[in-house]
Amino acid sequence: MANSSIQEQHQLHFLLIPLMSQSHIIPLTDFAKLLALRGQNVTIITTPLNAIRYKPIIDRAKNLNLKIQLASLEFPNRQAGLPECCENMDSLASLDLGHDFLKANEMLKEPLEKLMQQLVPRPSCIVSTNALVWTNEVAKKFKIPRYVFHTISAFTMVCTFKISGNKVHESVNSDTESFVVPDMPKKIEFKRSQLPEWLREKSDDKKHIMNMMKDTEHLARGVLVNSCEEMEPVYFEEYKKLRGRVWGIGPTILCNKENSDKYDRGNKSCIDENQCLKWLDSMKPCSVIYACFGSLSHIPAPQLIQIGLGLEASNRPFIWIIRENDHSAETEAWLEENKFEERVKGRGLVIRGWAPQVLILCHPSVGGFFTHCGWNSTLEGVCAGVPMITLPLFGEQIFNEKFVVDVLRVGVRIQLMSEKLVKSERVKDAVKDAINELIDGEEAAERRERARGLGELVQKAVEEGGSSHTNITMFIQDVMHAATSPS
Ligand code: UDP
Repeated sequence: MANSSIQEQHQLHFLLIPLMSQSHIIPLTDFAKLLALRGQNVTIITTPLNAIRYKPIIDRAKNLNLKIQLASLEFPNRQAGLPECCENMDSLASLDLGHDFLKANEMLKEPLEKLMQQLVPRPSCIVSTNALVWTNEVAKKFKIPRYVFHTISAFTMVCTFKISGNKVHESVNSDTESFVVPDMPKKIEFKRSQLPEWLREKSDDKKHIMNMMKDTEHLARGVLVNSCEEMEPVYFEEYKKLRGRVWGIGPTILCNKENSDKYDRGNKSCIDENQCLKWLDSMKPCSVIYACFGSLSHIPAPQLIQIGLGLEASNRPFIWIIRENDHSAETEAWLEENKFEERVKGRGLVIRGWAPQVLILCHPSVGGFFTHCGWNSTLEGVCAGVPMITLPLFGEQIFNEKFVVDVLRVGVRIQLMSEKLVKSERVKDAVKDAINELIDGEEAAERRERARGLGELVQKAVEEGGSSHTNITMFIQDVMHAATSPS
């Protein structure tokens, strides 16, 4: 039968399931748009409060006649012991509740199965983000393939495999002794103290979701990585050797071309689009440092204040995001009592709450991104072609810092006495020094040029003929093949 008639008979339907966290929902929603732009039917699983946040994005896609819809499931927050309004990881009072949150996500299994029986056309596959290992069972029950969608880089996956496989971190005598990650294409060193807890943990009963994710990955039919081969060719090659069917399909963020798409992402911004652009327009090209630490960070007030003082001491224009959970009475009192915003008037903009990060990063006046190295933020910095100042806070962010500073060479790390963000004068000075190094340091011009070139490189990856564009085609063909071949 000709390919086109097979496709007519088998209308594919992609069921996309994110972990209910901004860093999973945002890229998966972009991926949904990319699939819908290829004429595919896409349903994204969500919950009532997340649906409110993401509805404007889906409405815009529907206005373009894209076949994309949200399907909302009640979130079992109370059964999992979480507060009523908590349907997204960014609403957790502490990341210690992460386990309960994952439990709540897992409780979506039954309602999801009920919903899947009603969906038309019948789902052809499940694409779910890395943390949702239980979706393997759902896919098996419905006899459809599951694909993992990674919200981390191929570099991080390869490092994780090599460290946990060789247990090299257990061979060093202390937490502060460096070790080299074995069999890596480039020399990569870590100290045990830098590794995320789940990688250091020896006891099986404390097995973290990342380990489960790694162990169950082989049950999935394939792996999609929100990254591209042009940016990390050798790590994709290594990862394919370890895992087999791997497609780099990103950076998905690049599907957002209009300012309105860049402004409206994941939450309602706390600054008006025009006001934000007007402020940025008033600054010199490549002069502004944009400082934002993601959707999950919990930075204690004294440390946050040190960061603000460091931004001020750099004597450069800056935008400082204080996310809702970090915006404590203590921080606000400090801002007020010290008349901080008056002191930096004309060059410093403080945004309390959600910022239009991508709109800001893409503006020509931004000259540096001070980031916690979440993978989405890292990719957004790369796509905007801006060099970065790195301050990883938890989890796999330390891998992203290594990647940005040592592999891509487009970043400057904040030099702290210890690896932890400590309460000390040093934080302020370390922030100031890193900003000066980024803008004026010996390597600044070359780094800026590398960052700009990298931005162009990843743009090519998503255009026709680029690896990510081709890989999306191959992925769709794989789903078609699975749907049309008897298992
Ligand atoms: N984000 C944003 N505005 C904010 C904070 C975060 O748009 O004020 C977005 C950011 O652009 C990124 C995501 O939220 O897409 C955060 O994901 P990331 O992986 O960087 O970090 P995490 O939130 O998981 O720490």
